[in-house]
Amino acid sequence: MFDATWLLLLLPAAAATGWYLGRRDRKNETSFNLPSAYFQGLNFLLNEQPDKAIEVFLKMLEVDSETVEMHLALGNLFRRRGEIERATRIHQNLIARPNLEEHQRLQALFQLAQDYLRAGLLDRAESLLLELIDVDGHAESALRLLKDIYEQESEWGKAVDILKRLERIQGSDMHSTIAQYYCQLAEERLTEGCVEEGEAYVRRALDTDAYCTRARIQQGLVRHEGERYREARKAWSRIQDEDIWCLISILDRVVHCYRALHDQAGLDRLLNRILERVTNPHVLIARVNELERMEGPEAATSFLEDWLVRHPSVAGLARLMELERDANRNGDNNVRTRPVRTLLDNLMDTEGSYRCRQCGFTGRTLYWHCPGCKSWNSQHPLSGPELLASPN
Ligand SMILES: [Zn+2]
Repeated sequence: MFDATWLLLLLPAAAATGWYLGRRDRKNETSFNLPSAYFQGLNFLLNEQPDKAIEVFLKMLEVDSETVEMHLALGNLFRRRGEIERATRIHQNLIARPNLEEHQRLQALFQLAQDYLRAGLLDRAESLLLELIDVDGHAESALRLLKDIYEQESEWGKAVDILKRLERIQGSDMHSTIAQYYCQLAEERLTEGCVEEGEAYVRRALDTDAYCTRARIQQGLVRHEGERYREARKAWSRIQDEDIWCLISILDRVVHCYRALHDQAGLDRLLNRILERVTNPHVLIARVNELERMEGPEAATSFLEDWLVRHPSVAGLARLMELERDANRNGDNNVRTRPVRTLLDNLMDTEGSYRCRQCGFTGRTLYWHCPGCKSWNSQHPLSGPELLASPN
């Protein structure tokens, strides 16, 4: 069977041959019979015998170093086809050649690093790329790949250094991503119980990006943990309005903090502010609970009924049933509503999800680093019509 994709491979390879022959003509050299060897190689490719083709091409390389560009093109094409071992073999052979010009060696090195990356050999890719980060013409691409490697390996300190270098080279602003790296470092230290170090990283995140929502959340959490409630509230109150919904993921501690400070008015204002942004079930339930606690079940029921007419919510409906059950404490009523309650509990799993703005990844957990597309701070909570359209 003829594989049509080779046609695509042959176009640039043919261009490389043209280039090669052009150079030959200019030099008036006719001693080496490139066409027959080259077309023998192409023949093997067309007959789906790529390994034999590689043998022929590598022999050509032994005879003449002017075919280097063609080998680079071929190795690149093998990698694009997902044939990483073949690509690696071609690039390794190139690098092993003693007479290779420096710019050709660097080019082959960069290609080989990409082969290793595709093969998941991150350490090998890293050491090759580190050789290229000071080389003109390769630095930017090498730094980009190193950034991906360090993100994959959770080497956040190294990722910060790489991004700062990339910022200088490109002249672009990457402070919000660098702040996320500091937040990762803070999270690691805080999980290990190193509070001071964790706080120091949070401060560095905020020095880098004063509007980093995640750092403000972490700052509040550390202070809350240390029972510094006033300071915790201050940190959370500095989150920008458009990101205020991020507090949903730590809502229990936020509510606890405001209660510890006896700041009911502040808590009500905050919950209302979030509800203006997103019709999230956790926030709705927290708001209803506060109403019930402070003003009684009737006020809570009335608020909830009114809310549900405007924003239907399974969690809200389940809470309303609870309030009504409590209002007329009656055994029979409980038995009759139990199946409905079970159904609502199952349906509730669909609420309170987050979705990535970049790739659409949807899940129950808020990820600062999207597992789907690796974007930072790209998730938002599903609410209203989006929620109804969600496949989950
Ligand atoms: Zn994504």
